[in-house]
Amino acid sequence: MSTVKQNLARSAELAGSDSARLDVEVLLGHVLGRPRTWLYTWPEYELTVAEQGQFDALLARRHSGEPVAHLTGEREFWSLPLKVDASTLIPRPETELLVETALELCPQQQLRALDLGTGTGAIALALASERPGWQIVAAERSADAARLAEENRRSLGFDNVQIVRSDWFAQIAPQVFELIVSNPPYIDAADPHLEQGDVRFEPRSALVADREGLADIEHIAVRSVEFLTAGGWLLVEHGWQQAAAVRDIFAAAGFHNVESREDFSGWERLTLG
Ligand code: GLN
Repeated sequence: MSTVKQNLARSAELAGSDSARLDVEVLLGHVLGRPRTWLYTWPEYELTVAEQGQFDALLARRHSGEPVAHLTGEREFWSLPLKVDASTLIPRPETELLVETALELCPQQQLRALDLGTGTGAIALALASERPGWQIVAAERSADAARLAEENRRSLGFDNVQIVRSDWFAQIAPQVFELIVSNPPYIDAADPHLEQGDVRFEPRSALVADREGLADIEHIAVRSVEFLTAGGWLLVEHGWQQAAAVRDIFAAAGFHNVESREDFSGWERLTLG
């Protein structure tokens, strides 16, 4: 039998992944039901036959490219443990910028917010965790993703979030919101990035949009005007080269105070108005 230490050394087998060491730690921790730090306090622990078999199988699947979040079935976002499956986008750390910015723009404790294309529920649930007094509607077109979001909502116990099956605004009752947020699909169908890494295992519908990736952002900006209070905010995530185009879309839709914000890598990743 091999020890934790010997299994950690197998990150070399994942040479194709730029996060090989972390991947191995997360998968081994998952199999052993322990936090990653435990692996370094018990390097001499010998895996049981069952544990070793499970780890070998996960490592092989990771080797063939499957995202770590699909192998463990979970991903942390805004320190919330979220269930993840192949029906949605895997929450990304850069999307926490959108949550942070929404909280900064809207310090009030009472507010109506709308999250469009919620996927796992990540953005809506992160906002709910910080603002228990907000009423948050989270729209999701995919039935499977909406079920997953509802499962995440229930397990976190946020009663102030309502998951609604809706293609963008289609099923949203006429009402007003002070805040609309979205991480919509914004990748161009011809982008070679779609052939690499985790995105190969995520639904195209969560990633790709027409008109060089801008079609859904434009739809959201144009329709948001009807659903926002005067002085309400719209925040959308977008690709690192799309900020100027998105600012133009916002301005054309009638938004004021339009500005883009940079993520931790220095890319303009978010536009608000
Ligand atoms: N940021 C993601 C990526 O580039 C895409 C997310 C999205 O389309 N909303 O992999």
